[in-house]
Amino acid sequence: MNKERKLIIAGNWKMNKTVAEALDLVRDLKLELAAIKEADIVVCPPFTALSEVSREVLNSNIRLGAQNMSEQNFGAYTGEIAAGMLKEFSVRHVILGHSERRQYQKESDALVAKKALASHAASIKPIVCVGETLSERETSQTEKVLDTQVRGSLAGLSHEQMEETVVAYEPIWAIGTGKTATTAQAQEVHKFIRSLLADLFSEAVARHVRIQYGGSVKPANARELMAQPDVDGALVGGAALESRSFADIVKNSVAA
Ligand code: PEP
Repeated sequence: MNKERKLIIAGNWKMNKTVAEALDLVRDLKLELAAIKEADIVVCPPFTALSEVSREVLNSNIRLGAQNMSEQNFGAYTGEIAAGMLKEFSVRHVILGHSERRQYQKESDALVAKKALASHAASIKPIVCVGETLSERETSQTEKVLDTQVRGSLAGLSHEQMEETVVAYEPIWAIGTGKTATTAQAQEVHKFIRSLLADLFSEAVARHVRIQYGGSVKPANARELMAQPDVDGALVGGAALESRSFADIVKNSVAA
């Protein structure tokens, strides 16, 4: 494979896995993926498993990620987790603005941007999610929606911070539905997002930023998706819950 940017493949475990189950999964992944050097591999367990999984991935090629964090650093915010707390467990990435949080917790682009700034301040690299709904796609609003989300969710980042930010394009109609964007649809949108980044930041920054695809990625479609020039990795939900399927996605991706 000859990609311009190093692939980043992240597993979003969502609200799944007890500590014992999380440890089983990550131990299997360590064995399966020990030889992989061509991609950054990230697992994002629930908060309750971060401590144990953090110990387990020490000295391995698997990085730890979190699924969310607060935009605040400390204080009276019941139920929230701050970047500094994630840092205690050597968390290196954090998923921000996932469509489920935008939908159920009503997270706005402005809030996602604040969280992205707070994560960078703690040297945690954000994975900022954007994506359109089915009705937005069907009414030809995909580019308009993404333009708003990308501008709003990345507002205020410096060029250096943007280079260390991952963007995840996740068409909402493809998340957990078994429907995947065609490789042509994915490439078209990734290219569009990169052009937006060039406008907002610079050509050099845009060339540097990794844009993941997310939405029913499986071992069978990973290779073709990763072969697209502007697809630099995957954010994986359902298929990340089993070591076999996540490991095969990583292996097939680096073989693209
Ligand atoms: C996700 O929720 O980020 C996701 C891509 O889920 P799935 O792979 O299950 O579609």
